[in-house]
Amino acid sequence: MYWADKVVKDIIDSGKFKPFWVDDMKTPSGRIHVGSLRGVLVHEFIYKALLHKGEKATFTYVFEDHDPMDELPHYLPKEDWEKYLGQPLFTVPSPEGEGNYAEYFANEFKEVFNKIGAEPEILWVSDLYKSGKMNDGIKLCLDKVDVIRKIYEEMYKKKLPENWYPFKVVCPNCGKESTTNVNGWDGEKVKFECAVEGIEWTEGCGIKGEMSPFSGEGKYVGKLPWKVEWPVKWMAIGVTVEGAGKDHMSAGGSHDIAKLICERVLSYPVPYALSYEFFLLGGRKMSSSKGLGTSAKDIAEVLPAHILRFLFARTDYKQTIDFDPVGTMIIPDLFDEYDRCYKAYIDGSDEDLARTFEMSQIDNLPIREKIYLPRFRDIVNYIQMPNIDVHQKAEEMKGSKLNEVEIEIINERVAYAKIWLEKYAPDDFSMQMTKSLPEQAKNLTKEQKEFLSKAISLIEKEEDAEKLQLSLYNLTKELGINAKEAFSAIYISLIGKQFGPKAAHFLLSYPKSQVIERLKAASES
Ligand SMILES: [Zn+2]
Repeated sequence: MYWADKVVKDIIDSGKFKPFWVDDMKTPSGRIHVGSLRGVLVHEFIYKALLHKGEKATFTYVFEDHDPMDELPHYLPKEDWEKYLGQPLFTVPSPEGEGNYAEYFANEFKEVFNKIGAEPEILWVSDLYKSGKMNDGIKLCLDKVDVIRKIYEEMYKKKLPENWYPFKVVCPNCGKESTTNVNGWDGEKVKFECAVEGIEWTEGCGIKGEMSPFSGEGKYVGKLPWKVEWPVKWMAIGVTVEGAGKDHMSAGGSHDIAKLICERVLSYPVPYALSYEFFLLGGRKMSSSKGLGTSAKDIAEVLPAHILRFLFARTDYKQTIDFDPVGTMIIPDLFDEYDRCYKAYIDGSDEDLARTFEMSQIDNLPIREKIYLPRFRDIVNYIQMPNIDVHQKAEEMKGSKLNEVEIEIINERVAYAKIWLEKYAPDDFSMQMTKSLPEQAKNLTKEQKEFLSKAISLIEKEEDAEKLQLSLYNLTKELGINAKEAFSAIYISLIGKQFGPKAAHFLLSYPKSQVIERLKAASES
């Protein structure tokens, strides 16, 4: 049985967790890594599998926009942003345009998961507080602070001080949330101080005071610490199904605390939980390779939406997804695997594969009729060969005229094959420098030739591929030539193709004199 159907069977058979309310969450503290899509998609497939069973269900995604800004992403200048450290994210301005900081990064992420077919209702934790929905939970947690201290003590084998309370106010004087400590509660107001010292990355203003911990009527005054807030949030929303990455689900981790707070403080049934594995993205190689981003948005640009969705659909949540696209065949393999599931869907040969295919579809399911699927790696080869028309070639392979759906698939694969060749393909992927200057070089434009002649001196003095790539790129800026056109001039001169592997690596993989002689000939042709 398909993994999400298995989870749903387990949920339904238990007779509990009704009404089904599936939820996941994320703090938008900066550009969101592609790995965070796993949480969204695991919940999305469970939600869809519930609907598939004819059940009613709700799917929400919560952005924790009220968490304090506790570090600055490297792409924001420290001198401009440092002053906001410690403030709730929704009170920090957006790096660009309207709205706030949290919205900016949350919306960027939301666009990606919407594009790949997950459309949960979006909730903002600041709104949960501002609407007063968290207040009952806050009161229970403050009233039963001794029970919570006991839970922490059981979990961590460490006693919390008698004046520890599970709450942080927003300092009414300096606006910071990270710096405040609550040290008293009289049933209506909390006592707090805004500490000057105690946090390495920011400092408070030093004031002491008393205030109500209850947000409401559009105003936000403070928050519960995350481990306590998680179960209060379940209660405030009515969540009945929510998993988390295995780092939160380990024994003694945040989920264990949340569970005990549900049972002993809130009397709220613990939602159905599952612990999903990590998503690994060829970490080191990606970060050392310039121009290859690791955010959800970056990866969504190099794969068609349904293929990215398929990547998550095909792997059981209990297994790690190890996606290492740089210099590997992992993307062509992914397309092959998709095609295998597509075929199973059409001929009914394997139920699990067919179901995986169904789950990876974003719009309506295609009709079950035989289809010609050109292999992604074949398309990669065809588009690099001069004088080959991809559609004609595909028609030959199929043995009859292509239908509309097939043409659409081919066009899509051509577009993504170009991206793959440029960004990820192994350096030597079927690419050899031709013996003489390719015919196609005679069509180079004046601008392209100028680029080539200037590029020669850069190649002469540079041994490092990363640096050469960057200086070639800077040269395009300097000359005001479109980078794509400029780089394609290199490929045309060397291999007679519009596209190729990363230019600098390729250039440096041949004797310099040979490459320079060739570029010179091309620029003078
Ligand atoms: Zn303060």
